[in-house]
Amino acid sequence: MCTSLYMHRSMAHQGVKFNPVISWAMRFWLWFFTGMSTREWVAVHRKHHAHCETEEDPHSPVIHGWAQILFFGVNYYRKAYRDPATMERFTKGCPNDVIERKLFMPHKVWGILILLAVDIALFGFITGPLVWGGQVLWVPFWAAGVVNGLGHTIGYRNYKVRDASRNLIPLGLLLSGEELHNNHHKFPSSARFSMRWFEFDMGWWYIQALRLIGLAKVKVVQSGAADFKERARLAKEAAIDRVIHAAVAPKIASAAVDA
Ligand SMILES: [Zn+2]
Ligand SMILES: [Zn+2]
Repeated sequence: MCTSLYMHRSMAHQGVKFNPVISWAMRFWLWFFTGMSTREWVAVHRKHHAHCETEEDPHSPVIHGWAQILFFGVNYYRKAYRDPATMERFTKGCPNDVIERKLFMPHKVWGILILLAVDIALFGFITGPLVWGGQVLWVPFWAAGVVNGLGHTIGYRNYKVRDASRNLIPLGLLLSGEELHNNHHKFPSSARFSMRWFEFDMGWWYIQALRLIGLAKVKVVQSGAADFKERARLAKEAAIDRVIHAAVAPKIASAAVDA
């Protein structure tokens, strides 16, 4: 949820702004549980949108194959953020305060090492590291692997965008709504990813709850409902036209013959 809300929707695409209490909590949580740097994540992700499904795309399954991205997505991610040109070009607006510069950036692994110590203290020397492994592998596998690999390979498409993005499933429960990847590529800045009545974006509901108590401000939101309603209305009109045409055309033709 922190990756989706803070890194992705807020920092990379600026679709929502959080109260500092929330953004600091999420920054700390991400450092503690993932060791990911905001600047690196944002740079790689913006580059993905800018050069989708080309050689320049840091993790395109169309170029490298879905299995490569699903299982080795983290390697592609690392390679991308180690490129200084990428970091220079795609990091505008990222946090650059003293804690970012002195702690989160230079000591990315401290958080997850402290977490390992906490897990060992809580669960012992055997279970502790296993719990830790699950915690630190969660985001790399699901985000760098499943969303980036399968989100451009399998699933359904609401929009014919130029890239191969797909909605994995309509229920965004497990990946905080990131499952709706085709919707996201169509409207990248929208803080909301669900576009049709049967789609559910868990992240959007977190944003709604935070907005309700004044801790989030939505900057950009796209609702697909109106768009799909309009499409359904036009399709219905076209169908009625076809029926009328089919019923009336033969009568006109036979009247013409009689005349
Ligand atoms: Zn994508
Ligand atoms: Zn994005």
